[in-house]
Amino acid sequence: MTINPSGWRPEQGVANDTGRAPTFTGNRALMLEEPLIFEIGSTTTTGVDFGEAPSGANRLGGLDRTAPIGCYGLSEPETVRHFTRLSRQNYAIDLGLFPLGSCTMKHNPRINEKIARLPGFADVHPLQPQETVQGAYAVIQNLAVWLIKLTGMYGVAMSPKAGAHGELCGLLAIRAALEARGDVRQVVLVPESAHGTNPATAAFCGYAVETIPATGEGRVDFEALKARLRPDVAAVMITNPNTCGLFERDLKAISDAVHAVGAYVYCDGANFNAIVGKVRPGDLGIDAMHINLHKTFSTPHGGGGPGAGPVVLSEALAPFGPLPFVGLHADGRYELVEEETAGEDHPHAFGRMAAFHGQMGMFTRALSYILSHGADGLARVAEDAVLNANYVLRSLEGVLEAPFAASGPCMHEALFTDNGLGGGITTLDIAKGLIDEGYHPMTVYFPLVVHGAMLIEPTETESKASLDQFIGALKAVAERAQAGDQSLKAAPIYAPRRRLDETAAARKPVLSWKDLPEAAE
Ligand SMILES: *Cc1c(COP(=O)(O)O)cnc(C)c1O
Repeated sequence: MTINPSGWRPEQGVANDTGRAPTFTGNRALMLEEPLIFEIGSTTTTGVDFGEAPSGANRLGGLDRTAPIGCYGLSEPETVRHFTRLSRQNYAIDLGLFPLGSCTMKHNPRINEKIARLPGFADVHPLQPQETVQGAYAVIQNLAVWLIKLTGMYGVAMSPKAGAHGELCGLLAIRAALEARGDVRQVVLVPESAHGTNPATAAFCGYAVETIPATGEGRVDFEALKARLRPDVAAVMITNPNTCGLFERDLKAISDAVHAVGAYVYCDGANFNAIVGKVRPGDLGIDAMHINLHKTFSTPHGGGGPGAGPVVLSEALAPFGPLPFVGLHADGRYELVEEETAGEDHPHAFGRMAAFHGQMGMFTRALSYILSHGADGLARVAEDAVLNANYVLRSLEGVLEAPFAASGPCMHEALFTDNGLGGGITTLDIAKGLIDEGYHPMTVYFPLVVHGAMLIEPTETESKASLDQFIGALKAVAERAQAGDQSLKAAPIYAPRRRLDETAAARKPVLSWKDLPEAAE
């Protein structure tokens, strides 16, 4: 084991290419370096002291372990420090602006957390007798009513657990509706600018995916779409606002044309934040749309945290939505409508999306967010989100190329490209330069319709001061890029680790410690 985990050698005056500081410890003042547990732990130590387990009869049929498992461990205080040090290297919305476009990383109000932690909500179990969880059902039902109202739709399936899961739910409902009328279709049309989950979902459902091009203005090419609308098309999946941060102005006309050939319109509503309280997707002729509670309705996400992707459905599709759902009896009692109780009433339900009823903690947070904003407050959310994005867009005029800025304001996110930067500097270098400035990078190289895309979504929860600081940082990096400053190619230089070979990591992943090549010390 090395005593000096930083890998620093005295002859090195500056950080070596691991990015570790030229200090004995590798620490940078109070930002603490932390090696992997394999580098500092031992297989004979653990954070807890268990006595030797009594050897007795067991029912493992001779398959019980005979040799130690070989896990690396630390003493209790070392364990606490190891994980606390690692946790300090996370970037989070509670630390700073998180400009990831398409992801709506916004402040999670603390009132939501307080409500979600009330024991009556936090401690419910999905198998409790129904009469003991009437309050939880009321939360689900109230949230469902809000979502239906805000979207102008007919029904909602609450159980999908993420946006992509909601897409699957919507397409399964569409497939069930088509099959119910004996009309099996093969193709789902997806615009070029779609989120990657859209074609993935369609393919997962067994459909052939065909791409519809975008116009030079960054919107769906309606003429090309119309030309492809034939009776083999099951659905069109359209994101609105789209991933170029633009409102699809033709959506009502698109829906009419899609319906005219007996197909359905799926809308990716992950960007609902930009239009909540302003536009009702139901008025645009949409048949199914997922809503990301973990985006628009401020429930926490990132780092794989729990999501929730309820799907609102049109009157035509609602009978085909999944079970279970919460029903309300005339006497005010809520009842969960499950397969076994649905009987004759719901013969078309396609099945279920999840073992239970959805993400209760997310429902509670989302409803608390909605009630604390009220209808007028939710409309302000959209207005302020759009205002903030346009402030970013206009503040960087002349600094970064904005491909669609000439055709008008953007919605909730500002799109830039790396066109015109000097010295071979690209979007990746700007993203890495932002890390040195203390920001999580924006979304890069997406949407695919724009070369070297940088997609920035500030959300409504950033103050002008925090936007100004972010814009200042991005401007500083962009100006270095325009000057062809080659040091950007080495960024980040202040991060705990320098630039990684992301291509090699993706193509040749090393998934276990023992497989690491010797040279990687
Ligand atoms: C986030 C997002 C999704 C996927 O949502 P998940 O909850 O991550 O599955 C789909 N489409 C768009 C446009 C998104 O921004």
